[in-house]
Amino acid sequence: MWINGSTHAGSGAEREVVNPATGAVVDTTTDATPDDVDAAVEAATTAAAEWAATDVTARAKLLRTLADALADNSDELVATLVAEQGKPLLEANGEFHHMLSGLRYYAESATKVRGVHQELPSQFGPAYGLVKRHPFGVVGAIMPWNFPLTLLANKLGPALAAGNTVVAKPAETTPLATLQVARIATEAGLPDGVFNVVTGGGETGGALVGHPDVPRIAFTGSTATGRTLMETAGPALKHVSLELGGSDPTIVLPDADLETAVKTIQIGRYWNAGQVCLAPKRAFVHADVFDQFVELLSGRIERYEPGDGTTKPDKPKLRIGPLHTAAQRDLLVDQVADAVDAGAELVTGGHVVEGDGHFYQPGLAVDVPDDSRLSTEEVFGPVLPVWSVDSLDEAIERANATAYGLGSSIWTTDGTAINRAVNELDAGMTWVNQLHYGYDEMPFGGTKQSGLGKEHGLEALAEYSRYKSSVIGGLG
Ligand code: NAD
Repeated sequence: MWINGSTHAGSGAEREVVNPATGAVVDTTTDATPDDVDAAVEAATTAAAEWAATDVTARAKLLRTLADALADNSDELVATLVAEQGKPLLEANGEFHHMLSGLRYYAESATKVRGVHQELPSQFGPAYGLVKRHPFGVVGAIMPWNFPLTLLANKLGPALAAGNTVVAKPAETTPLATLQVARIATEAGLPDGVFNVVTGGGETGGALVGHPDVPRIAFTGSTATGRTLMETAGPALKHVSLELGGSDPTIVLPDADLETAVKTIQIGRYWNAGQVCLAPKRAFVHADVFDQFVELLSGRIERYEPGDGTTKPDKPKLRIGPLHTAAQRDLLVDQVADAVDAGAELVTGGHVVEGDGHFYQPGLAVDVPDDSRLSTEEVFGPVLPVWSVDSLDEAIERANATAYGLGSSIWTTDGTAINRAVNELDAGMTWVNQLHYGYDEMPFGGTKQSGLGKEHGLEALAEYSRYKSSVIGGLG
């Protein structure tokens, strides 16, 4: 744990952090008990008034200094990310740089947001209105294990820039890089108590969410946990943002640049061993190009060689890391078996790789029944179901037939089809002829069961502020 600028032993049970690629124990942590959570919240509460009163330019400067200090320690942080999460070095580096760019974005934008002043018509005489931004105080930030660093930065950057202090709880399986960030932040000059970390699982997270002195909760994780969390936060009417699961549709029409679509969908679906919230997880491909699409994509994903992320396969193989835990891999195995039992065909891959580590050969499935788990549930692993569709109408209807609404994409050069996708796909984001991770500049967040609120962009800065309106009259 990291509380008030120094390491804190904690009093809960010990927990091993295990490398998913090798099974080796990387380190151990201690679960935070409710008393430990109290200590972290107290430190954050004590630091809150001075941090809020610190000039925004000074807060922005500290965020920039933090990003620079993290960059100076990139080797240590990236190595930890590979060891505790399992992702290959290339992907860990990508995540690390995304974290830095997110922190720098909020260091830049913190000073660019202005208050609003307006003249107000009033029967009581001339008056003007003033809308001021105030921080909430202490933010409880809870992260999953798939992108421990970027998902931390998505909350830490705007929360600190807006003048809040933070108690972060990383996933129980990936706490180490987050603890290193907290240590580096303190060494870089972030005042004690401004950024604290408590380690542990759902009980620790629940204690943080239910703490009476934590008015703002920022959560990324599964839809099921998001629902439980709302039950804890609801009675106190806390301000909650939820970034939850997704099952993004991708639509490929006959006039698309098929090679680009295939290459990009491949990266989108199989990056991070398919453990990505914003990823194409259901492909609807027009019948005219369906066979070609399946052949091109399966040819490319056959090049994946699952293995330890610290080593590199020989060309033309591509390294793909393990599933993060045995339970995560078992879930995927069950989802694929359910579809195959109901008549689906695996064109390639889609099976466990025997040996140490939770490796899985990336797969592509066709003829997947609409009511099978591969179609209805979020698939958090490297398997893509591909369906043939006869029209854009059918593609949009099937794309929207899901409880989720995180991302979506379409591949076409037809302006009318693009316009329809942008207007009719029920999701927080629609990509056209490209896919990307979250843009720092673009607000990101889901509809339906994929969440509430936004991360990224100036919208996220707003979500870490309480807006207070004042009317000033009696001036003449
Ligand atoms: P999870 O919900 O199991 O755990 C997420 C975090 O919540 C962990 O830190 C966990 O310890 C904590 N937690 C568990 N129970 C809790 C409780 N009752 N109260 C408070 N905290 C609690 O999710 P996961 O398996 O770690 O992550 C995978 C999920 O996250 C997928 O569904 C994925 O789509 C989603 N995700 C969403 C986004 C997004 O931006 N929308 C990004 C990444 C991952």
